[in-house]
Parts: sequence; structure tokens; C-alpha cells
Amino acid sequence: MRILLASSNEHKRHEISQLFSPHEIVLPKDLGLSFDCEENGETFLDNAMIKANALYDVAKDMGLPVLADDSGLVVPALPGLLGVRTARFGAEDGGPLLSAHEKNQLLLKMMKDFPEEKRKAFFVCAMVLIKDRYTVYCAVEHADGHILHEEVQGNGGFGYDPVFFCNAAGCSMATLPDGGKNLYSHRGRAARSILKMI
Ligand code: IMP
Repeated sequence: MRILLASSNEHKRHEISQLFSPHEIVLPKDLGLSFDCEENGETFLDNAMIKANALYDVAKDMGLPVLADDSGLVVPALPGLLGVRTARFGAEDGGPLLSAHEKNQLLLKMMKDFPEEKRKAFFVCAMVLIKDRYTVYCAVEHADGHILHEEVQGNGGFGYDPVFFCNAAGCSMATLPDGGKNLYSHRGRAARSILKMI
């Protein structure tokens, strides 16, 4: 299948292409499409549905299945700051987004004096596949870990991966080799749930 991914994030395209291989993942911009929506849901699943429906409406004449991923980081010791607002962490209301490095540095600073038990965190991924108007698959999965004391960079990952120690992998999410992150990540788990269903 050729699947249209409701994203402009090349990192997500890379990970999702590996996960859905041999299906082909295309982005709206590859087909000259643009879509816009307000991600104002209360849950990751709400937002994944909002993105999937918005793109499905724009692309309905193409007859392609549409996939959307909404993901983020949850730090229970920082209630309300991340979660569905992860992308906007540290940004003023309506202001420009911080870079990934700036967000990581801000998070590390806020948690500087947090003891280990308050550093628990998890990534969440809600994934929605609209195959047609009457066939919709969804999955929500998470990956447990904790926030490190400094950024640990590797060759892989993006966003908050350098500050996230993944319990199942036993290392920072960013140090996993290409393809390795998918074995343990929230996105890898959600994609495998969807693939099992379809
Ligand atoms: P969205 O799903 O594109 O709205 O992304 C929400 C935020 O979570 C962005 O700031 C991403 O960088 C971050 N994020 C989502 N998935 C991951 C991941 O797998 N690793 C690190 N950061 C992530």
C-alpha cells in the first residue's frame, strides 16, 4: 500500500517507513498537498484523530489510506507541562517553538534537583490509520524510562530522545542504532499494533 502520513516531520517519516515497510510512506508535500488543523484535543488519540481526519478530507479524491501519529513525553512530576503540549514546551502562548536542544536544556534545568524517583517519564504514541471512511484502526502505546541528568547524544532519534533513558533498551533513546529505536519505542509499539490489525 501507499500510505499518506499526516506529518511534515522527516524523522517520523524515517521511523514509520521502516516500521511499515514494504508499504510506502508519502508525506502530503510529496503530493503537493497541504493540510492544516488545530491540535486542540485533550488526549494524544484525540489529536491523532484530528490530524488524520483533516488530511483524509483534503486527500479523499486520491483514495489513499491516511496515517497520523501524535506523540509526546509525559513526566508525572511536571503535571500539565508536557503530555499533549510536548511540542509547545517552553513556548509562550502563540509564540515560536523552541528548538529540540532548547527544550531539552529547559527540561534538564527544571529537573536539576529532582531525585531519581521524580525523574520517571514515558513517551506516548497514538496512531490512527484511516483506510476508508468506514474502516479506522487506532492504537495507543507507551515506552517507559526516566529523564537523564544531561543530553546523551547518539546517531539516532530526535526531539527529547537525548534526555530519555529507555528502560527496555537500557540506554538513552538517542544512542540506539538506526532501526534499533523502533524495537523499543512508543511509535514502534503502536505501529506493530496497527500492522497486526490490518
Ligand atoms: P507531535 O506528535 O509531532 O505533535 O510531536 C510532539 C512533540 O513530541 C515534539 O516536540 C516531538 O519532538 C516530541 N516527540 C515525539 N515523538 C518523539 C520521539 O520519538 N522522540 C523524541 N521526541 C519525540
